[in-house]
Amino acid sequence: MPVAAWAPRLLPVALLAAALGAPAAAADPYVRERERMVKEQIESRGVDDPATLAALRTVPRHLFVPEERRRAAYDDRPLPIGFGQTISQPFIVAYMTQLVQPRAGMRVLEVGTGSGYQAAVLAAIGAEVFTVEIVEGLAAWGAQNLRTAGFARVQVRHGDGYHGWPERGPYDAIVVTAAADHIPPPLITQLKDGARMVIPVGSPFRTQTLMLVTRRGEDVTSESLLPVRFVPLTRAPR
Ligand code: SAH
Repeated sequence: MPVAAWAPRLLPVALLAAALGAPAAAADPYVRERERMVKEQIESRGVDDPATLAALRTVPRHLFVPEERRRAAYDDRPLPIGFGQTISQPFIVAYMTQLVQPRAGMRVLEVGTGSGYQAAVLAAIGAEVFTVEIVEGLAAWGAQNLRTAGFARVQVRHGDGYHGWPERGPYDAIVVTAAADHIPPPLITQLKDGARMVIPVGSPFRTQTLMLVTRRGEDVTSESLLPVRFVPLTRAPR
């Protein structure tokens, strides 16, 4: 008899939990932290592109940092990811994403896969993402993070991104997440007519300038936007 007496009570509770999305919240305990990150670090600093904000709300950033850093994943700062490299501060990822105006179906190249987080944000918007990483261990780790977080369709290549990924181009947008002392000409040639590229330009280990480059036909214009600090774009010996 106790079984029959309990069953009717348990059922509504289970249904209620499902209706409130309790299982999803249990699977991702970081939903609230992400919401706070978007409000306090990103919207408050003027990023307002709905697609970008939705992506930052969705992508599980904690799956793109080393396990021992997970609790700091949504903090307002870059974090070390090994190999002397870093995952960018959330605001910078959002700002760069908004600048290139990615939309579903666009072909986007990223130079500097690192953790894979920026690539995941672009993919969450529905872009077809190609990303190049020069450190072999990071290319493997970034690709693994992307698979774990559900972005296996992002294509990752180990190589020197100075040369872009010409076989997959041209691109609607290019996002460079390492600082170069000049804009790599091969990247310009891989921009479609009307495409945009965002890239930190300046000397390594000093403050650089985030630049927005736009190609219109053979015309290339660039605009300086924000002082930033990125790890250097290194070069593979050829
Ligand atoms: N977008 C990354 C940020 C990584 S930091 C993220 O979301 O986590 C910049 C990355 O650029 C580093 O992983 C570094 O190894 C890589 N990098 C530096 N020079 C490169 C080059 N020439 N080609 C490709 N990747 C490069």
